[in-house]
Amino acid sequence: MTIINNPLLKLLLLAIIACTLFSCTGKRNSENKTSMDIKSGIITGTFGSVDGEEVKLYTLTNSNGMVIKVTNYGGIVTSIQVPDRDTRLGDVALGFDELQPYLDGHPYFGCIVGRYGNRIANAGFELDGQSYILTKNNGENSLHGGDVGFDKKIWEAETFESEKGVGLQLHYLSPDMEEGYPGNLDVYVTYLLTDENEIIITYKATTDKACPVNLTWHGYFNLTEGRENVKGHQILINADKYVVVDENIMPTGELRSTQNTPMDFSDFHTIGERFDQVEGGYDHSYVLVKDSPGLTLVARVHEPKSGRLMEVYTTEPGVQFYAGNFLDGTLTGRNGVVYNSQYGFCLEAQHFPDSPNQPGFPNSILRPGEVYAQTTIYRFSVK
Ligand code: BGC
Repeated sequence: MTIINNPLLKLLLLAIIACTLFSCTGKRNSENKTSMDIKSGIITGTFGSVDGEEVKLYTLTNSNGMVIKVTNYGGIVTSIQVPDRDTRLGDVALGFDELQPYLDGHPYFGCIVGRYGNRIANAGFELDGQSYILTKNNGENSLHGGDVGFDKKIWEAETFESEKGVGLQLHYLSPDMEEGYPGNLDVYVTYLLTDENEIIITYKATTDKACPVNLTWHGYFNLTEGRENVKGHQILINADKYVVVDENIMPTGELRSTQNTPMDFSDFHTIGERFDQVEGGYDHSYVLVKDSPGLTLVARVHEPKSGRLMEVYTTEPGVQFYAGNFLDGTLTGRNGVVYNSQYGFCLEAQHFPDSPNQPGFPNSILRPGEVYAQTTIYRFSVK
């Protein structure tokens, strides 16, 4: 009684209660969660603005404490925090904590790529007897949708929760002739972070004029959290052929067997083991071995020191395996990691490069009345 009546002590008591409450909330939102603190959910915050338009950052946490951060600028996944074999969370995505470095220019870190991921030769194609000229942004060629591709658009965004986990749906309407592509293309991309530690990406698109569509997600991974380059990662790719390319990384049209070549990853090999035997390093599309039209294994990647294992599945016919050969140390990312050559690798599920000009490749033309649909899954565990 005397304590309560003393105004000084009363203040002290109130301060202690406030501090306790504050530190609990702080703990719940911190990265070093224990299983008791984990609360799955979505936090929406601001990430800055582009031309006066606000850009958001969505933090998605699942029931195991795995976290992904996604901005509606380019649909970029800026951060992927997954446990290692000691259950310690660490960031395995190359990226930045602020918007500005993304605006200053970057090699497609974590973004949605469209309308056409990968290269189109001589920045053009013919369709139904008509020639189309695209923006050249890779020598004479067009790469990843042109100058201002889907990676630089502000997407409409809506969060959702489902039985499987927490997610974000993004929408963008690409106008007729944007970057030279015909048709109004209505695109939906969904990121779902499941309680099975999966990122499930689903894509849907419709058009009012025939046009090539090859959407992909351009995540760069380093399962060591950037402590080392990715040459020590062990990788298996479910493919027995790859797309042969010329000196401009443009398909010649040939699909060649990987057997007895440094391109063969049908069993686990480290990325570094035969790297120097491949001119320019790995930057190739692989033809996936598919038994059925649905989801197929793309690759398994194991990083022995952390124990992290990433498995990728897709409905697409191919995957671009890019070992970050063009990273050159000019960008410094999260935690001060300098992105030198081979500091990240990509597994971009997609159609083969230059398909609109390669009659022998699977069809990548979407026509009015059809629905483009793709699902790709990145699943994380430890081994
Ligand atoms: C391509 C690389 C390119 C990188 C960044 C990858 O999809 O295969 O050649 O350098 O994207 O643009």
